[in-house]
Amino acid sequence: MPQKKRLIYRLKDYLNEHYPFTVRKLAVHTRLGCPHRDGRHGEGGCVYCYNPGFSTIDEATGSVREQIQSGIQRSRKRGFAGKFIVYFQSETNTYGEVEQLHEWWGTIEDFPEDIVGLAIGTRPDCISEDILDHLGDLANRYMVWLELGLQSVHDQTLELINRGHDYQCFQQTVELIRYFPKILICGHIILGLPGESIDEMRYTIHEINRMNLEGVKIHHLQVVWHTALAEWYAEGSVKVFTANEYVALLCELLPELSADVVVHRLVGDIRDDLLIAPRWEQPKTQVIQRVEKLMEEKGVWQGSRV
Ligand code: SF4
Repeated sequence: MPQKKRLIYRLKDYLNEHYPFTVRKLAVHTRLGCPHRDGRHGEGGCVYCYNPGFSTIDEATGSVREQIQSGIQRSRKRGFAGKFIVYFQSETNTYGEVEQLHEWWGTIEDFPEDIVGLAIGTRPDCISEDILDHLGDLANRYMVWLELGLQSVHDQTLELINRGHDYQCFQQTVELIRYFPKILICGHIILGLPGESIDEMRYTIHEINRMNLEGVKIHHLQVVWHTALAEWYAEGSVKVFTANEYVALLCELLPELSADVVVHRLVGDIRDDLLIAPRWEQPKTQVIQRVEKLMEEKGVWQGSRV
């Protein structure tokens, strides 16, 4: 059995290793939309997606610079003395004119005392060399995470959930990004997608290891209003995890995730008023504590079975 370094390699551990101060994410929104909804790369969007459900986009006002300024001011007023990673969070944040993207991302250079990095959420089919050139340059001076939606490595599932790209597309994008070795890649996955067995989810975890992704963001399947998934759920054709089932599943899968992969998230996070299911009694933090406790009891840790 590999030697234990830590129970779970969380993003906060990674940031602590890299900075002598606390770092937190500061979400900003550009309202670029998504090419998978407007017909450019597909139509209808992913079956689980209703974007306001996944972010604070409704609360965001003003330009990128204004959002950064007000986010920093708010945190300072609450006594936060650390620094920030600016997070372009909702929708597809590389879906725009390259010059405009460069201008937005370059805004971080105007806050040298406050900002140490950048995180950009996007689709694997919406990345070009022009985009990576600029990010690669920023990555020489800042921590840069490119967060790529994968969800599953199984094409049958990707088709069912209408992702609009296959697994090969994701792998080709990873290969392209590797020409810019300082850019860190975080793959987003969903556990519990319709029709997937635990072995299929396990295989997705194994592929994250094989591709040497630096990070993973794990969500449990959540059913949100205004989505195709909500209709399937109402028809009874979709099952969601109970909190107990999800805790047990993570204890089964995390030991198979390489100990070096940074876990950015373990539990999905949806605006409460938009969430249909599952509605767990325990808050997310308690669910994570239960995962940690069960892993301790079972004598397993992230990477213990790799
Ligand atoms: S999940 Fe992402 S890629 Fe899919 S429709 Fe929503 S914004 Fe677009």
